[in-house]
Amino acid sequence: MYSKIIILRFPLDKVHNPLVCNLSKRYNLTFNILKATIFPRKEGLIVLELSGTLNDYKNGIKYLEDQGISVKNAAHEIDRDNDKCVHCGACTAVCPTEALFINRPEMEVIFDQTKCSICGLCVRACPVKAMQILPSNEIFFDETS
Ligand code: SF4
Ligand code: SF4
Repeated sequence: MYSKIIILRFPLDKVHNPLVCNLSKRYNLTFNILKATIFPRKEGLIVLELSGTLNDYKNGIKYLEDQGISVKNAAHEIDRDNDKCVHCGACTAVCPTEALFINRPEMEVIFDQTKCSICGLCVRACPVKAMQILPSNEIFFDETS
């Protein structure tokens, strides 16, 4: 299962278009809308968590882009506070992309940021809150741009 939080920006004439519902109908993707806004300049923004197989996810994103929707990642990256990590391995059990894995025989948990899909599962799984999502300035601080 692949999961990612994304930002959709679209012109007003697309507001009533059931694009997000089509992600479910046509591409078997499940979605969770985290935020939906219409800006004064008549542009819409939706932040949603999109989940499915990697192939369905890619096809769904292509569908959105073909409809003229701007699609961006909601988070710049996931970061680990190495001082907090106790190498318990809990995050490796939930990481779908093997960005977090145990290096044997040292039993050290390695974080390969280049493999991270920013799904956020490790953030919830980590008992000492070592994993954190660095939010995108675009959705959290720059809504009037
Ligand atoms: S490192 Fe965390 S956020 Fe990145 S893919 Fe693995 S579980 Fe998801
Ligand atoms: S769950 Fe947290 S403390 Fe445990 S290995 Fe992963 S990042 Fe480190």
